[in-house]
Amino acid sequence: MKATKAFINGEIVTVDTGFSVCEAVAIYENRILSVGTSKEILSLADGNTEMIDLEGRSLLPGFIDAHAHLELYGTNKLGVNGKDVKNIKELQEKLMEAANTTLAGNWIRGWGYNQNNLAEGRHPTRWDLDKVSTEHPIIVVRTCGHISCVNSKALELAGIDATTEDPVGGKYVRESGELTGLLLEAAHMNLVLFANYSEKEILKGLELASQDFLEKGITSVHDAGGYGPDHIRYLQKAVQSKNVKQRVYTLYGSLHDSPGMVEKGVGSGIMTGLGNDWFKVGPAKVFIDGSSSGPTAKTREPYTSNPNESGILYLDQNELNHRLGKAHELGWQITAHAIGDEAVEMMIEAIQTALEHHPRTNHRHRIEHSGMTPPDLIQKIRELEIIPIPNPAFLYEFGDGYIKDYGERIHTMFPLKSFIDNEIIFALGSDSPITTVNPLHGIQTAVDRLSKSGQLVGDTQNVAVHEAIKAYTWSGAYASFEEDIKGSVEVGKLADFVVLNESILNCDPSRLKDIQVEMTILDGNIEVSYLTKEDVK
Ligand SMILES: [Zn+2]
Repeated sequence: MKATKAFINGEIVTVDTGFSVCEAVAIYENRILSVGTSKEILSLADGNTEMIDLEGRSLLPGFIDAHAHLELYGTNKLGVNGKDVKNIKELQEKLMEAANTTLAGNWIRGWGYNQNNLAEGRHPTRWDLDKVSTEHPIIVVRTCGHISCVNSKALELAGIDATTEDPVGGKYVRESGELTGLLLEAAHMNLVLFANYSEKEILKGLELASQDFLEKGITSVHDAGGYGPDHIRYLQKAVQSKNVKQRVYTLYGSLHDSPGMVEKGVGSGIMTGLGNDWFKVGPAKVFIDGSSSGPTAKTREPYTSNPNESGILYLDQNELNHRLGKAHELGWQITAHAIGDEAVEMMIEAIQTALEHHPRTNHRHRIEHSGMTPPDLIQKIRELEIIPIPNPAFLYEFGDGYIKDYGERIHTMFPLKSFIDNEIIFALGSDSPITTVNPLHGIQTAVDRLSKSGQLVGDTQNVAVHEAIKAYTWSGAYASFEEDIKGSVEVGKLADFVVLNESILNCDPSRLKDIQVEMTILDGNIEVSYLTKEDVK
C-alpha cells in the first residue's frame, strides 16, 4: 500500500505512551499508515503521493479542545465586541453604532466586558444602556458568560420588574429596591435564552467558530453547550453539513436549566457514545456553581476580597445526586461545571454516591474546570478515577483577579502539577469564548502560569511543555473514550494533525503562544495551509 500523503524531515511529536519524537509520517486516505524516519516513509511514496517537507517544523496530533462553546463563540462574533473597551462610554458608543443599523424593537447584543478593566471599575447599569436606546432591547454579557447587564426595554419585554422574585441559582441585582439591570447566573441565563439568536444566525455563528478553531489547529471539540435542546440539534446539523468541520463530542446539557435538560436527555433513552467519529453524544452535564472571575464560584471559605460572599449554587447536593445518579445508572458518562472548592467537592460526592449504588469501571466521569481543587479533593479524584477538565488560560485572563479574590487559595487553582503527581488524567480546554481559543496559549499558561500583568499565579503548579501537549491531545481523546482512534500519531489512527511553524519542543517557553499554525489536517485532508508551494509537492 502506497501513501496518499507523506510528511518528512519534521519533528513528529507522536504523543504515544513513551512520548517519542520521530521524523516522518505517512497516511493512507484518512488513516496513519506508518511513522518513522524520513527514509522509511519515503519508501512508501510513489508518483501519486503528496509530499510535504516539514523542514524541521513540528507535527502534532490535532489539538482536542476538551471544553469550548462553539455556538457562543460564533454568535459573539455576530454581536458587539466589548472585550477591549476601556470605559462605559466606549461601550455605549459601540452599542450605539449597532443600534443605528438595527430596526427598533430588535435586540442589540454585546459581549466581553470585564468591569475590572473598565475605568469606572463597575458593571454597566440599565441606565447606562438606556442612554444607548430605549427602543431596542439591549443585553451585554460579561466576559465570564455568567453575568449580564440589560436595559429597561429588555426587562420590560421579559416581564421583569422590581416585584419579580430572584430565580433559583440567580439574582436580579437591586439598589434600594430598584433593578439595576445586572443579572447574575440563572437570571442571566434565562434572559440570554429569551434574547437568543435565530437558527439561521446560530448556524452562521457555528460556521465562523469552526473556521477560527481550524486555523488554531483544533481538529476535535468537546462542545460544552449552548442554550436549550435546540443547541444540540443545530450543532448536529452544522457538523453534518460540514459547516462545522471538527469532530464534536457534545456535552449534553444547557446553560439554561441544565438539570431539566439532563432529565429530558436521560429520559429519551439515548446515552453517551451515540453517534460516530464526527458527532457523538458526550456526558450529561449540569451546572453546580458560578464563575471564577465574577466571582460567583461556590467556595468553602468566603472570598478573600469579600468576607460576606462565597458564591452561588444552582442546585443542592440532593438534586445533584439525583439527576446525575440517574444518568450514571443508565450508562451515561457524567460531568458538571464546578469551579469553587465547595462545588468540586459536591461533584465528587455525587460521583462517589452514584458509584456506590451502581458500581462501574472505566466510567471516565469528568469535572468541567475543577477550578479550586485542594489536596483532600485531589486524593478523592485520584481514588475515584475522575477526569478533571481544567482551563489554564484562565490563569492568564483572570489570574490578577484570582489573587485578590482567593488569596493563598491560588495554589489550588487548576493544580495541574498535583494532578500529574497523583497520576490523574486531565484534559485541557479553552472554555472559549471565555478565553482565547488558541491551544498554544493554553499550553504556555499551563507551563508559566503568568497572569496578564505578569504575576505568577500559584508557583507550585507549573507543568512541562510535553505534559501540556499531552493534555491538549491524547487526554482529550481519553476523556471522550476515543483514544483508540485519535489523540496521538500512531499507525491506524485517524490522520488529524497540526503543523506548526517551528519546533514546539525547542521553543523558548515564554514564546509558545507566538508559535503559528501552518497547517491543519483533518481526516487526511489539508483544511488550512500557510505553507508555500515548494514545501508541498
Ligand atoms: Zn464552559
